[in-house]
Amino acid sequence: MQDIKELNLKTLEDKLLSWGSPKYHARGIFNWIYQKGVYEFSQMSNLPISLRGLLAKEYLILSLHLADTQKSSDGTTKFLFELADKNLVEAVNIPMVKRASTGKTANRLHSTTGCISSQAGCKFGCSFCASGQKGFKRNLSAGEILDEVLYLKNNTSIGNLTHIVFMGTGEPLDNYDHLLKAIRIINSPDAFNVGARRITISTCGIIPGIKKLAQEDLQVELSISLHAAVDKLRNQLMPVNNKYPLATLIKCCQEYITKTNRQITFEYILIKGVNADAVAAGNLVKLLKDLRLAKVNLIPANCVAESKIFPPDDAQIDYFKQYLIKSGLNVTLRRERGQDIDAACGQLRLKYEKI
Ligand code: SF4
Repeated sequence: MQDIKELNLKTLEDKLLSWGSPKYHARGIFNWIYQKGVYEFSQMSNLPISLRGLLAKEYLILSLHLADTQKSSDGTTKFLFELADKNLVEAVNIPMVKRASTGKTANRLHSTTGCISSQAGCKFGCSFCASGQKGFKRNLSAGEILDEVLYLKNNTSIGNLTHIVFMGTGEPLDNYDHLLKAIRIINSPDAFNVGARRITISTCGIIPGIKKLAQEDLQVELSISLHAAVDKLRNQLMPVNNKYPLATLIKCCQEYITKTNRQITFEYILIKGVNADAVAAGNLVKLLKDLRLAKVNLIPANCVAESKIFPPDDAQIDYFKQYLIKSGLNVTLRRERGQDIDAACGQLRLKYEKI
């Protein structure tokens, strides 16, 4: 059986026409799957029964199974999925509550960010990440990526699924074609209708992928996992730096910004005793100060028992942040969500694969 989510609207229309069905049913099918969250063709009540039968014979809608789930006291929910070939991937729903003032009243806006995996396992072996610890298994298909999004959308605890970040297991730009195919459906008004600016691709710095992305007609957000501002340390933390060292990466980022006029966010996990002192802050300023439209997102490390990683204390975090701000960088500080569950990338999957 084929996954119907591998078809975009046009290819689904063509398929319906080849069966002698009007192509407008394709929009209806998209609506049932992506907006109403229906997993069975038999429930698509406004489609002719004969068409529902043909679809059910040839296609499936959801191919993953929930293997485990963990919910944090802050509302973050982690899902562990088993794919058809028994590989495991994780996805996370992160609810957000914002206050918005409208005149005299203050409303609470509820939204949810879905953190999505793009590969089963990862070949890049970053030392602070649980996802890479068992190596690479395979790329996810576009349909499998969309499975995760569909499941998260149907299981948000508050608000709608409004933002998507590719920060789960795997390196999204190492699975470029499937990723882009999935993103176009996530972005499509006929499917999930998530605005491109609410979709973030997070990469460890795959230069050919960044160059390709700069040529796309998609205004997605790009985020680079940096975590060190000198090659010696970044080589240790992120072996990918041996292939794409900092000078080449920053040059590529400069070209991306010039071509797209879009900001790049540099993620920087603060790790006690490794990259969080005054020298490291100085190196980071030196590396990014001339990069127009750069933002630094500081993230105090989440403990991964296997790799003995710990966050710095609050005073050190504040010093690092203020140093960057005073040096003219645009800085945000993000606390990890779901600290009471295995929320760091790959932790839940790793726990299962050990059993
Ligand atoms: S941080 Fe990303 S690229 Fe590095 S090992 Fe983890 S999943 Fe792979």
